Amino acid sequence: MIMAFYHPGFVAPIGERHIMPMRKFGLVAEQLRSHPNVRLEEPASATEEQLRFVHTSEYIEAIRTGTPRELAESQKFPWSADLFPSVCLTNGACVAAARQALRDGMAAALASGFHHAHADHGEGFCTFNGLVVAADTLQRSGEVKRVAILDLDLHYGNGTAALAESRDYLTALSIYGSDYWGNKAYVDVTARRHEDGANHFSATLPRSCDGKRLNALLDEHLPRLFERGRPDLLLYQAGADPLCDDPYSPLALTHAELLERDRRVFDFARQHALPIAWVLAGGYTRDVSKVVEVHVNTFHAAASVFAI
Ligand SMILES: [Zn+2]
Repeated sequence: MIMAFYHPGFVAPIGERHIMPMRKFGLVAEQLRSHPNVRLEEPASATEEQLRFVHTSEYIEAIRTGTPRELAESQKFPWSADLFPSVCLTNGACVAAARQALRDGMAAALASGFHHAHADHGEGFCTFNGLVVAADTLQRSGEVKRVAILDLDLHYGNGTAALAESRDYLTALSIYGSDYWGNKAYVDVTARRHEDGANHFSATLPRSCDGKRLNALLDEHLPRLFERGRPDLLLYQAGADPLCDDPYSPLALTHAELLERDRRVFDFARQHALPIAWVLAGGYTRDVSKVVEVHVNTFHAAASVFAI
């Protein structure tokens, strides 16, 4: 059985016309309800103490109160009083999935990982960095010693990379579509490269990258997650936006190739007996069913690799 953490309160009111398809999380949950190997569970909200492991008090206050407005909307969502409880729930789901993975070997949060969020501000629709909030929570409680983060969203995980610098216990790898900054139609994602460091690395996917090329890059780079010592947990940002149909994506990756990507990642975790928790990142096709299909396929990949 795969535990998937979801709460209807994940959805913040950002307006119907925002490119971020908030309703996808509910649609994925709806499809998973009939999946024989998935159990949906409601997570607890992340606590303020957990948020403070990663984020500055000033930034947390801005998200809670809406003041200063520029900071409260730095992630490019219109601020409302509903924003804070919704992002506490989505971050809580990341913590719950990470903890559940330690018990079951795998688990998921039907929320984003929020890899663009920095300690003192948000970017690219990411408010609080759920990946690092989850990692810090389990590391500080002694449940894990080392954590690895694998980011296969189309976009570079700049917030995670910046936060990794002061966290020796963390190893972060971002394999991303290389030239999305040229995509002028969607300049709302402005995240910039962060210099690779001792415990955070990156690799780029070339324009028109297909599954074969992606798999070769995965085989080459996944072992790097073990370079600095064996992690106790792998957090996987399973982005849907590398899909060829995505308006941001310059890549040629099909649904079948993204399914194979996920199989490879789960197979890597299984071979190393490495607990894995994943989140549903990215995905902006106008036809939201295409995004939902990528995310549901990640569950199919997990079920097949772990034979459940
Ligand atoms: Zn993305």
